[in-house]
Amino acid sequence: MSLLSRAAPALKHIREQHSRLAARQARRSLHLAPPWLLDDYTPRYHLISSTEAAKKRSQAYAHLRECNLCPRLCGVNRYEKTGVCLIGAETVKVSTIAPHHGEEPCIQGHNGSGSVFFSGCNLRCVFCQNHDIAHQRNGFDLTPEQLAEWYMKLQDIGRVHNINLVTPEHVVPQVALSILHARELGLRLPIVYNTSSFDSLESLALLDGLVDIYLPDFKVWESSTSKRLLKADDYTATAKESIKAMHAQVGDLCFTADGIAKKGVLVRHLVMPDGVNEGRAIVRWLAENVSKDIMVHIMEQYFPRAHVGKPRRGVTASSEIKAKVRYEEINRPVDLSEVAGVRAAAQEAGLYRFVEVAGHGGFNI
Ligand code: SF4
Repeated sequence: MSLLSRAAPALKHIREQHSRLAARQARRSLHLAPPWLLDDYTPRYHLISSTEAAKKRSQAYAHLRECNLCPRLCGVNRYEKTGVCLIGAETVKVSTIAPHHGEEPCIQGHNGSGSVFFSGCNLRCVFCQNHDIAHQRNGFDLTPEQLAEWYMKLQDIGRVHNINLVTPEHVVPQVALSILHARELGLRLPIVYNTSSFDSLESLALLDGLVDIYLPDFKVWESSTSKRLLKADDYTATAKESIKAMHAQVGDLCFTADGIAKKGVLVRHLVMPDGVNEGRAIVRWLAENVSKDIMVHIMEQYFPRAHVGKPRRGVTASSEIKAKVRYEEINRPVDLSEVAGVRAAAQEAGLYRFVEVAGHGGFNI
């Protein structure tokens, strides 16, 4: 028997081992892309120096003295008068603070997201899904220091996975001060900035180093739609600029091994009735201009609220009500085929990281 034929079984064994290893690696690469998996995580507000923290404090006070923090550019001294958002300087108005289980699985986890729902808003969406909070400014007043103490309660008693600041665009200086105070008190949770994207670059610069996860909406694409439904002419241009700036700060969404998001951007788009073309334009823009790896939540839960479907002034609710209600074009729930249309466009554009119900019953990361 030649040397070669004696070695053949051993060579066959090695080849089989190699092909088994290659198959295992192929299976693993279908599972979790390593770049999105973090071994451990330290919130960004613990990584800035005390000098940077002091600088941020003085910038926050300066912004409040001449507020151009959002595209409304009111230029008011909020210690003396209020701008379009109707919120002053010393305190913020808060509607609810509680562990919240209505967010994406990677944000709410098992224990909930520590949500702070701010009252007031710098947009005036006619279909606002939080109308009683955002438009009617119900709630209680808190200083930045009191707000920080609530973050600690959410962490120590609520055992939540993050601090989730909902509709904070008009109170960014107070929010910045609260995060800096909470870091002194021992906060260790990631900060989620849950925004309409009607932010300014100055405002986002103040938040750089303080926020870990940006959760921006991208609501509508056409200026005519933003003017009619959000009461803002320049929403789309602002949202584009803001989401790019957020992504430049924290990148794509990353998780620890427990499936909880720790850092990055997760964009939400609420599909509107007859809004498929605008939704398609939004997801294409995200893929082409921000990142094909960006995590996206295409949402289907639109429901007519706030001013939508209310009788027009001077018209009684009677037989011809359908033709005489306000914002009739969006006075219906969204159709699932419309949601599927936006989702298909997102996939065609190259997006692939979606928030959706996991087929295996656990988290989708
Ligand atoms: S945050 Fe309020 S006061 Fe400041 S520019 Fe915006 S709407 Fe005006």
